[in-house]
Amino acid sequence: MSSILIIYTGGTIGMVRDEESGALKSFEFSSLLKEIPEIKKFAHQIDVHSFETPIDSSNMQPHQWLNLAEIIYNEYDKHEGFVILHGSDTMAYTASALSFMLENLSKPVILTGSQLPIGEVRTDAKENLLTAIEIASSYKNGKALVPEVAIYFEYDLYRGNRATKSNAEDFEAFSSPNYPVLAQAGVSLKYNTNDIYKPNGKPLKINKFLNQNIATIKLFPGITEQFIFSIIHIPNLKAIVVETFGSGNAPTELWFINLLVEAIKKDIIILNISQCEGGAVSQGKYETSSALNKIGVVSGKDMTYEAAITKLMYLLGTDLSTSEIKEWLQKSLRGEIS
Ligand code: ASP
Repeated sequence: MSSILIIYTGGTIGMVRDEESGALKSFEFSSLLKEIPEIKKFAHQIDVHSFETPIDSSNMQPHQWLNLAEIIYNEYDKHEGFVILHGSDTMAYTASALSFMLENLSKPVILTGSQLPIGEVRTDAKENLLTAIEIASSYKNGKALVPEVAIYFEYDLYRGNRATKSNAEDFEAFSSPNYPVLAQAGVSLKYNTNDIYKPNGKPLKINKFLNQNIATIKLFPGITEQFIFSIIHIPNLKAIVVETFGSGNAPTELWFINLLVEAIKKDIIILNISQCEGGAVSQGKYETSSALNKIGVVSGKDMTYEAAITKLMYLLGTDLSTSEIKEWLQKSLRGEIS
C-alpha cells in the first residue's frame, strides 16, 4: 500500500472561532481529521505529522521552512508523496522556499489549505485536502505525475514558485500569472504534463542555509531619498528587491540612481521585480529602466515576489560569489523564471 504523509502546520483549515473574541485561532490536527471521515476511503496509508503548535501562516519563519524540508527529507523513502496543510497567507512563500531547499525532488510536495475552516458548513477545506492527497499519490509507471512543489487550491494546481495569493475573499485565492496551471480538477484530474517539471534522477538534497539579510523597496511616486538612503545603509544587508513600475521602470532622478550605485558598490545585489503580477521586467525597454541596466541592477524577469525573496535567501546562503548569484538569479533553478 502506498503511503502519503500529511504535514499539518496550521492555517484557517484547522482553525476554530474563539468564543470570547470571535477571532479564528489554530486547533490541533485530531479535531481536524474528525471533520473529514472521507479520508479513510483512500487506498493509501495516510500518516500525519503535526506541528506541535499549529500556527497562522503569518507567523511562518525560515526556521519552520527548514523544519518542513527536514521532515520531508527524513521521511522521503517511506512515502510516495507529501501534503502540507498551511495557511494561505504565506503559502506561496513556503512553496517557493521549499522548491529551492529541496533539490532534485522526484516526489510530489503539495501545499493546500482553505479559506473557511474545515468545521464550517460551506468549507472549501474538504475538496482541497482530498484532491491534494489524490495528486500527491498519483503515479504512472512508477513515476510521480507531479514531482515538484505545488499548491492545490480550488480546482487548480499551480507550480509553487509561480503562484501568488491574489484574493483574500474568493475561494479561488491563488493565481499563477506567468505560468500555466499544472493540473485542473473537474470530474477527472487533468494534468498538463508538458508544463510539469521533469526530475533529473539525482538523489534528493536539502539546502539548509537561508540568508535573511535582504530588504524590499516598493517604489511609489513621491518616495523619498531619506527612505532609500536608510534602507541601503542597513548593516550587513546583502540584497534589495526593488519593486518597480510596469516592465521594470523606476525614477530617473539622479539621487535615486546614485543611491543604487552606492549600494551595488557595497556588494548589495539589487533585484528588479515588477509591481505588476503579470508580465516581465524588461530593463532597457523604456528610458526609465535603461539606467538600471547600466548600473548593474539584476532583472528578475517574470519571477513572483515570493520566488524572488526566497531565491535570494537560498542563493545568499550558498558559497557562490556575488556575480555567480547575479547570474543564477536570471536563470531557472526550479522553473521559477521563464
Ligand atoms: N491567516 C490564515 C493563515 O494564513 C489564512 C488562511 O489560512 O487562509 O494562516
